[in-house]
Amino acid sequence: MPFKSPRGTKDVLPPETSLWQVVEGQARRIFSLYAFQEVRTPVIEETGLFLRSLGDLSDIVQKQMFQIKKDTDAFVLRPEATAAIIRAYIEHGIYHSSQITKWFYLGPMFRAERPQKGRLRQFHHIGCEVIGSYSPCLDAEAVRLAVHILKDTGIDGFEVVVNTLGCAHDKKRLTIHLKELLLPKKQLFCEDCQARMERNVFRVLDCKNTQCREHVAALSIGTGHVCQECLRHFEAVKASLGRFGVSFKVDPLLVRGLDYYTRTVFEIKHPGLGAQDALGAGGRYDNLVAELGGPEKGAVGFALGMERLLLAKGVTDTGVSCAGPLDCYAIGLGDAARGKCLELLNSLRLAGVAADMDYGDGSLKSGLRKADGMKAKVCVIVGDNELAKGVAVLKDMRKGTQEEVSLDCLTDRVKGLIC
Ligand SMILES: [Zn+2]
Ligand SMILES: [Zn+2]
Repeated sequence: MPFKSPRGTKDVLPPETSLWQVVEGQARRIFSLYAFQEVRTPVIEETGLFLRSLGDLSDIVQKQMFQIKKDTDAFVLRPEATAAIIRAYIEHGIYHSSQITKWFYLGPMFRAERPQKGRLRQFHHIGCEVIGSYSPCLDAEAVRLAVHILKDTGIDGFEVVVNTLGCAHDKKRLTIHLKELLLPKKQLFCEDCQARMERNVFRVLDCKNTQCREHVAALSIGTGHVCQECLRHFEAVKASLGRFGVSFKVDPLLVRGLDYYTRTVFEIKHPGLGAQDALGAGGRYDNLVAELGGPEKGAVGFALGMERLLLAKGVTDTGVSCAGPLDCYAIGLGDAARGKCLELLNSLRLAGVAADMDYGDGSLKSGLRKADGMKAKVCVIVGDNELAKGVAVLKDMRKGTQEEVSLDCLTDRVKGLIC
């Protein structure tokens, strides 16, 4: 049996890789417009980091962590980046030198999911964290930035949903309030939700079970659990979103199932994606830095799911063409001519011309067919005659014209033709 990629993982092959590069390039460009810098942390972290940051009752910690044991050390393949980035922020004492730290990252995350549609065990995030401020402007800026990336990637038709969880005190009040609302109706919910009501009641609001969803939709949560200061913060977030020109919807039922979120949470949904409709999500987490052993620092961030984003791009933009043309294709007829072609390739590439050649010993016709297949702009053809004269035939594949050029000035002439 031939080997296959592990279940829940996927090879990204050309030309799709070009699409990834385009999206990643756009994201990097937009992050820099908002004064973010890239950070790269390891894909493995100590297990304890996620137990502490996500909460031992979160679904990720309970069911989805990829554990690695090595002697007495316990690692986990990172299920998300925020905790790792805060770990790095504290470890390197970044708070000593920087008022506000704006970091972004791109990379793979891992969850031991049952591989079903849209659920990958290795998936990729484009995300960022702003550490060192409690300003509601930065909550709004995070949302604006996520929307900016999606729009510039060519994605449309998504919806921004925001809510406030309030501070840690408010969240405790919300937990009690939710239990009061849900426990009397416990029997109407699925088995998972019944367990969640005891351990992590917020997760009930995210259940995908149709019946649970109906009962959840009928809940009236209100904002009674949110203190005045947190309400003012949320009003300021909404006002700033207005200034940034971001349209959004407030949904009191939007909660994020991770322990560390406080105050603003948001999600960006795309109706074209079906049950797993979130393109990305984020929020504020004002207690995490201190909880992981750092100073008191407000922070806010988000992550976009690369695979979801590409799916959504497929939904709204089916005409994606990725394979770029090749500048120059060389065809040598005979061993000696092919040897010369190696030298020509070398000079062309050093001069910044993307070049390839026919390594086979086929005819001129088959060489030209390969050049066509690679969408070559120019073909260099060398046979024994040309070799003897110190020239090559240069064929402009787009115009169909050809000329004889001295090998000495070939690179310059090719550069002239391809631009
Ligand atoms: Zn509060
Ligand atoms: Zn349920």
